[in-house]
Amino acid sequence: MFAPPIARLIRELQRLPGVGEKTATRFALHVLKAPSNEAQALANALVEVKEKIRPCSACFQLTEADPCELCRSPRRDHRAVCVVEDQASLLAVEKARTYFGLYHVLGGHLSPMDGVGPEDLKIRELVDRVRTQGVEEVILATNPDVEGEATALYLKRAIEPLGVRVTRIARGVPVGGDLEFADALTLGRALEGRREY
Ligand SMILES: [Zn+2]
Repeated sequence: MFAPPIARLIRELQRLPGVGEKTATRFALHVLKAPSNEAQALANALVEVKEKIRPCSACFQLTEADPCELCRSPRRDHRAVCVVEDQASLLAVEKARTYFGLYHVLGGHLSPMDGVGPEDLKIRELVDRVRTQGVEEVILATNPDVEGEATALYLKRAIEPLGVRVTRIARGVPVGGDLEFADALTLGRALEGRREY
């Protein structure tokens, strides 16, 4: 039986994805053993991300500056927008180093079963962006699972009438997989091999 403050820390750590009671206990005991300044640095970092990080008003990726560094960069191709479900997918695509356009982070995928409809994602914002920002190609890089495919199809129907090129990343990313876990080489090839959709 742990003293209440330790039990509380374990309980909070267990809220993190993939962290069960055993891991949370290990983390908590590590923090207890660590020097005070290390624990303080961890606490400060947690508070700081919540205070300073917000979604970019253009692409909705997490950023300290708004618009984000990518959206402001003259080295990126502002005519291409790669649509991803979340920040983890964006980072995976960036790591593949074959794409130099901009992004649009949807904030999830359509999932009627969980009550997630188009108005819960940044779809209206994407359509507005395509309509007003001189976008010429929209690359649909939602995950290759059932919800990701349904989301891609919905987006295609919403964007196509605007007269821009709509492409989908090639198969090669394992079906049912998550972009976040695709290796950089596979994902790079899937992007290069993207097709009209
Ligand atoms: Zn941005």
